[in-house]
Amino acid sequence: MDFDEYGPWAKRVVDWTLDYHRTIRERKVRAPLTPGAVAGQLPESPPELAEPMETIFADFERIVPDGMTHWQHPRFMAYFPSNAAPASMLAEQLVNGIAANCLLWQTSPAGTEIETRMIDWLRQALGLPAGWRGLIQDAASTATLCAALTMRERSMGWRGIRSGVSGETAPRIYASAQTHSSVDKACWVAGIGQDNLVKIGTDENFAMRPDALREAIEADRAAGLAPAGVMICVGGTSIGAIDPVSAVMDVAEEEGLYTHVDAAWAGSAMICPEFRSLWDGVERADSVVFNPHKWLGAHFDCSVQFLKDPTDQIRTLGLRPSFLETGGVDDAVNYSEWTLPLGRRFRALKLWFLIRAYGLEGLRARIRDHVAWTEEAEARIAGMNGLKIVTRRRLALFTFAHVDGDARTRALLETVNDDGRTYLTQTSHEGRYLIRLTMGQFDMKRADMVEALDAIEEINAALG
Ligand SMILES: *Cc1c(COP(=O)(O)O)cnc(C)c1O
Repeated sequence: MDFDEYGPWAKRVVDWTLDYHRTIRERKVRAPLTPGAVAGQLPESPPELAEPMETIFADFERIVPDGMTHWQHPRFMAYFPSNAAPASMLAEQLVNGIAANCLLWQTSPAGTEIETRMIDWLRQALGLPAGWRGLIQDAASTATLCAALTMRERSMGWRGIRSGVSGETAPRIYASAQTHSSVDKACWVAGIGQDNLVKIGTDENFAMRPDALREAIEADRAAGLAPAGVMICVGGTSIGAIDPVSAVMDVAEEEGLYTHVDAAWAGSAMICPEFRSLWDGVERADSVVFNPHKWLGAHFDCSVQFLKDPTDQIRTLGLRPSFLETGGVDDAVNYSEWTLPLGRRFRALKLWFLIRAYGLEGLRARIRDHVAWTEEAEARIAGMNGLKIVTRRRLALFTFAHVDGDARTRALLETVNDDGRTYLTQTSHEGRYLIRLTMGQFDMKRADMVEALDAIEEINAALG
């Protein structure tokens, strides 16, 4: 395979992709669950001799599509969406062709400078304060880990990471029980430990109680521990829980704590001004993460971390050994100094294509449709025999269950997913098994919501 052969194959791949998307509604959303079915079709050893592309591609067509769960299926209503608007897909194809590593400004000036501008476009789009900076990360988990490390370093007088922890007072991080598991993992990896991640009680809406936060911080100070930071949840993954950012910020500011807002999913909705009251006070946070690859339409992966002032994070993570000296362009931004990995993909191009190809109005219209259709779906499910809404809609997510209990709810979910017209996932909430329903696929139409709800209604009735 060389570039002469690459040309015709690249065109074939594009034709295949187009056909895949045009006929995607005919597929079952979730892959059939038969572990080993794909592995059984792969030779156990690698080939010694080159194989023709024709054979490789034929195997791809035979094995892969039927072994995938189709995330770009417009009736995918599981987890949270992981989008890929056609314009951002094109940008990814160009990035794939250029194949640069954007570790430093000089390894990729356009990559770095488009990234800086895209961060600022998104800052404006989300209504965040002028002067904030940021970077594109691979995942919200990475952004949250960077924030946890910064909290730890800051509270330990910038000695922890580089010299190792030895007998210092434990840094304490505060979060509600609704925060994503990535917060727990960040605390483990940052050497803070699960015991020093303090889960704060929530109110009847599953939002963090600022008074309970204050009490926990005061108790920790009295015990000689070192309060370091607060992880704030805006749109939790389980039921979409939203902490009262402003009231939590009152406490955090008073206590001098670093704050990180995890809005991995819900952040995209903030391009619509009418939803911004959900995160009132965000302008006072130190760090905010949201994933444009989730609900905005950017091709996976693309997670944006905004920083009120990047100094603390760079102080925590930046280093420049001699082989990375940039000779004369030391004032340029080198984003690898702001995060964990050195090598970085050119992720900014897909944002540039996405925002320009649809305009903020086009992106807002989709989010508003998803929210409106989720509201419609919630009302329809509430009227179905034996089904009950358990947590009300937050943006485009609600949960429901069958009144006969967990086993019946689970049977409904599994039968719906085997049917394949839609795909939903579960959560466990207050000891109950619930079905989550969320909408957000970029090409979704109202008819997709109707078809998915028809499937749920029909299957629920058949189960009796
Ligand atoms: C999806 C999600 C995450 C994790 O995102 P990754 O980019 O996969 O690491 C974290 N927090 C919330 C609220 C999420 O919805």
